[in-house]
Amino acid sequence: MLMSHARRVLKEVFGFDEFRPNQSEVINQLVDGGDALTLMPTGGGKSLCYQIPALVREGTGIVVSPLIALMQDQVNALRQLGITAAYLNSSLDAASRRSVEQALLEGQLKLLYVAPERLLSSYTLELLDRLEIALFAIDEAHCVSQWGHDFRKEYQQLSVLHERYPRVPRIALTATADSRTRKEIVEQLDLHRAGQFINSFDRPNIRYSIGEGGNGRDQLWAFLEREHPNDAGIVYCLSRRRVDDIAAWLNSRNRKALPYHAGLSQDERRTHQERFLREEGLIIVATIAFGMGIDKPDVRFVAHLNLPKSIEAYYQETGRAGRDGEPADAWMSYGLQDLITLRQFVLDNDADEQFKRVAHHKLEAMLGLCDLTGCRRQALLAYFDEHLQEPCGNCDNCLNPPRTWDATEEARKALSCVYRTGQRFGANYLINVLRGKDDERIRHNAHHQLSTFGIGEDMSGVQWRSLFRQLISRGYLDIDAGGFGSLSLTDKCRPLLRGEQKLQLRKQRPKSKRQQIKRTGSDSRLHPRHQGLFDALRALRTKIAREQSVPPYIIFHDRTLQEMAEIHPDSLDALRGVTGVGERKLQRYGDQFLALLTQYRPGAPEASEETIGRHHGLEEKNPVSSSVFHTEIEQ
Ligand code: ADP
Ligand code: ZN
Repeated sequence: MLMSHARRVLKEVFGFDEFRPNQSEVINQLVDGGDALTLMPTGGGKSLCYQIPALVREGTGIVVSPLIALMQDQVNALRQLGITAAYLNSSLDAASRRSVEQALLEGQLKLLYVAPERLLSSYTLELLDRLEIALFAIDEAHCVSQWGHDFRKEYQQLSVLHERYPRVPRIALTATADSRTRKEIVEQLDLHRAGQFINSFDRPNIRYSIGEGGNGRDQLWAFLEREHPNDAGIVYCLSRRRVDDIAAWLNSRNRKALPYHAGLSQDERRTHQERFLREEGLIIVATIAFGMGIDKPDVRFVAHLNLPKSIEAYYQETGRAGRDGEPADAWMSYGLQDLITLRQFVLDNDADEQFKRVAHHKLEAMLGLCDLTGCRRQALLAYFDEHLQEPCGNCDNCLNPPRTWDATEEARKALSCVYRTGQRFGANYLINVLRGKDDERIRHNAHHQLSTFGIGEDMSGVQWRSLFRQLISRGYLDIDAGGFGSLSLTDKCRPLLRGEQKLQLRKQRPKSKRQQIKRTGSDSRLHPRHQGLFDALRALRTKIAREQSVPPYIIFHDRTLQEMAEIHPDSLDALRGVTGVGERKLQRYGDQFLALLTQYRPGAPEASEETIGRHHGLEEKNPVSSSVFHTEIEQ
C-alpha cells in the first residue's frame, strides 16, 4: 500500500519511471519504520532514498548535511518539484530563521535540511520535540569516521537522535566504500539493527581512458573536439601555473574556461564555481582544490592532465563526471614528468616514514592502473574489493586493446646507460646519451665515450620517454628525492640485466589510432538530427533558470531535454511521459516547452533566437562555500 504510494510519488513528483538499484528496498525499509545504512556511489540516487519516504510518511523529514553550500541547491530543486522544503544553517538571518521555524511548527514542511552543529543545539532539539518527525537522514555519514578525511566531531554526537526519538526511522548515507568506515558508522550512530544496502561502486556510464606521453595539451584538445565540443567538464592539473595556462589557452581557442585554485581570491573562486553551475558548456580548469561539494549532474567529462596520487583520488575526481547517469568520460593524459614530480612530492613530504610508505604504495597502485593492458574498470573495482566478472567494454583497453612489445633489449640498454653514467642523471640526459646527441654537458662528462652512447638512435625521444616511464612505474628505476629527478637502479634490475628475464611493455598508440575510439551502440548520445532542437531547448531552460537565479539543471536535466528533442511530444499529456517531468514542472513549464516544440515540428519554420530569448547578465546569488584544499603544488 505505502510502496505503491512511493512508486506514484516517483512518477508524479519526480517524473521517473523506475527506481535505481536499491532505492525501492531502502524506501521500503524506512516507510515501514526501520533504519537503513545506504552505500551508493556518487550519482547512485541517494537523495530519493530519504526524500520519498519523507513524502510518504506523516511529518517532516530532517536531513543532516555538513555541506551548507549544497543545502540551498537541494532545497531549490525540491521547491521546483512542488515539495515544501527549507534549511536551517548559519547563512540565514534571524527573520528567515524564525519563518522557517514557524513553518515547521505549523507542519508545513516536508523536508528540513540542517547542519549537524545546529541540530545538536538544545534550542533545535527542543523545537524538534514539538514536531512530528517522518525520519532522520544523515547524509555524508562517513563524517563520523575519525580516520577519514572529512571527520566532523558533531557527527559522533548524532546518536542522540536515536536516544531522544527512538521511534523515528533513521537512514545514514555515504559514497565512501570501505568496510572500516561502514563499521564505524554502525557503531557511532548505533545502527546495529539497520538494514544495510550496499550498491556496486561501478559507474558504468563513465568511460575510462588513460594515455601517456606526447603533448598533453594537444591531446586534450583533440579529445574535446572529438567528444565534447559543447559540454561542461573539469580539467585537473597539478600546478597553479599550469591551470592558468591551460584555461587561457582554451579561451584563446574559443572554449569558455575558468581557472580554479587556491591562489585565487575567495571571491574569484566563488564566482568561477557559480558560473560553472549556472552556465552551459563551461570548462573549469582546476587543481584538486576544486570539486568537494559540487553536485552538478551534467559534468560530461573529467580530464586529468596529470597523474592523481592514488586510485582513491582518481576514483573520487573522475566520479564527478556523469552523476545524471548519462555517458561521460574520465580521460587522462600523463607523462614522465608527472611521474617524477609526484614521486618527489611524495618523498619530499615532511610526513613520517609510515605516511610516505603508504603514499608510495598508493602511487604504485595508480601507476599499475595506468600501465594495465586489461580492463581498467575491472582493475579499478578490484582495488575496492569488488569483482567484475567480465571486461567492461567501456574503457579504452576494452574498446581498443593495447599492443605490447618485447622491450627486453631496449630496457637493458637504458638500464646500463643509467649505470654507466653513475646513476646521477635524469631521463632527459640519459635519452640524449642513448640517442648519441652532440651535447656540451655530455662531452664535458666524457659520456660520449661510453659504450652506451648512441646505441639507442633507432628509437625516438618520445619512445624512450615512454620506456623510462614504464621502467620507473614498474620499479626497475628509482627517482632520487634530491629534486633533480636522477635515476638509479633497483635490485629488481638484476635478472633483467643478466638476461634471465624478459620484459613486455605497453606499446604507445600511434596518434591516429588513439583518436579512433568510437562510441558504441549502447550509447545514448543525441543523434545530430536532433541537435538543433536540443540546443533551442537548452536555451529556453537557461532563460528560465536565469530568471529564477538557479542552475539550469534544476529546471530540467539534459536527459529530459534530449528525450523531448527525440520524442517530440505534442501535448501536455505526451510531455508527462518524458523522464524528469513531474506534475509540478509540467504545470509550470509545460506550455513554454510545448510552444517551442511546436515551432520545431516538421514543416514548421525554424525557431529564431528571438523566440527563444537571449541571454542576459548573470545574477550572483546563492553563496557557495569556500573550497576544501588538499595538496596543491604552488608555482
Ligand atoms: P547521489 O547523491 O547518490 O550522488 P543524487 O541523489 O544526487 O545522487 O542523484 C543523482 C541523479 O540521479 C539526480 O540528478 C537524480 O535526479 C537522478 N535520479 C535519482 N534517482 C533516479 C531514478 N530512479 N530515475 C532517474 N533518475 C534518478
Ligand atoms: Zn574495460
